[in-house]
Amino acid sequence: MEKHTEKNGIFGWYFKTNLLVRILTGLILGAAVGIVLGGFFPDAVKPFVDKTKFFGDLFIRLLKMIVVPVILFSLIAGAASIEPSRLGRVGVKVMVYYLFTSALAVAIGLAFANLIDPGAGFNVIGDAAVKGRVAEAPSISQILLNIIPTNPIESLTKGDVLPIIFFAVVFGISLSYVKTSSNHDLARIGGILLDAVNAAAETMYKMVKGIMQYAPIGVFVLIAQVFAQQGPRAIGPLLTVTLAVYLGLLLQVGLVYGGFLSMFKLGLIRFLKGANEAMVTAFVTRSSSGTLPVTLRCAEENLGVPRTVSSFTLPLGATINMDGTAIYLGVCAMFIGNAIGLPLSFNQQILVILTATLASIGTAGVPGAGAIMLLMVLESVGLKVTEGSAVAAAYAMILGIDALLDMGRTCVNVTGDIAGSAIVSKSEGDLDLSKWS
Ligand code: ASP
Repeated sequence: MEKHTEKNGIFGWYFKTNLLVRILTGLILGAAVGIVLGGFFPDAVKPFVDKTKFFGDLFIRLLKMIVVPVILFSLIAGAASIEPSRLGRVGVKVMVYYLFTSALAVAIGLAFANLIDPGAGFNVIGDAAVKGRVAEAPSISQILLNIIPTNPIESLTKGDVLPIIFFAVVFGISLSYVKTSSNHDLARIGGILLDAVNAAAETMYKMVKGIMQYAPIGVFVLIAQVFAQQGPRAIGPLLTVTLAVYLGLLLQVGLVYGGFLSMFKLGLIRFLKGANEAMVTAFVTRSSSGTLPVTLRCAEENLGVPRTVSSFTLPLGATINMDGTAIYLGVCAMFIGNAIGLPLSFNQQILVILTATLASIGTAGVPGAGAIMLLMVLESVGLKVTEGSAVAAAYAMILGIDALLDMGRTCVNVTGDIAGSAIVSKSEGDLDLSKWS
């Protein structure tokens, strides 16, 4: 049992209040302040953002600081403690789950867009708001090769997650062989190294816990900034897109995750309670990668997903599983088609399911990445964002509220990763069910 330090002094009340209550207070107050500023005092928005930027950036930098070491240490520790054959099975299961739920997500996005028809009747015509942009899709073989780092240290310094995962898994598996070697000396030093890596991973989790004490303030500032800058714009003609995206996100969580969880006899409410810190952090930081330390901690400490599973499935999910982004891509493609008077046909929508699923896999877990991938999806249905075109003008409208959409989609991206990890772990029979009762 860890000993709790006395929480007295002038900030005693702060530390004594439940963390979630504090974070939610920051969220609600931030949204209120942002809406009031953006709606009634537009001139005060810029000075507010300039003055508070430091406090928001502080939260994001603190989280980013531990992303790379947290992936590296937890994954080496996880891979060294699981048999290679089981790791392979977990990998296949989670990949199937991630792909399937992403495709469902695009379909949900399209369904809502068909229902709400965002952008219909807009008749957007071209202007030069956005310069011609095209996102090139790399070839499959190149994508696969890029997963293998030519220099792991370089991948670590650049924070390239997939090569880090690859290296850490190979290192962890090799370490497990060293640790169980028949040579006593080798086995001894292997054990020492594994203990050290485990201790480093635990230390990282402690750091996350400490950083989360600052979360309520970071949340307040980040939310207030987004609502002040983008809130009023979304209330205008873009309300239908925002609505379609958020309804799709809600359905994904309630129906798809809720459904899969209940198939595995796990409760959605209990799941959301355990995942909420990560969900709020994703919402405000708009980065799945940045949220990863919190995601790992929630999965392990609140939901009982063992490190052998979570250390692998969560960094992988933060990189390739983006269900929220998939919904956003579906809705926005429909919006842009409608807005320029060329609604997508059924066949085009099927194509969108395919390209948006792939695009969501290729989306980096950083703020705004989904908006770049939207270019690829648009391209696939013949809507090119070229300078001065109507498509470019409609795309620019979406960019205007991207942060608002990014908050929701990132939250669902992370929620999907945790749901997948819990489900795979339950199917492997190693989920700690005492956390679910
Ligand atoms: N911000 C999202 C994430 O980090 C990616 C996106 O822009 O869609 O998950």
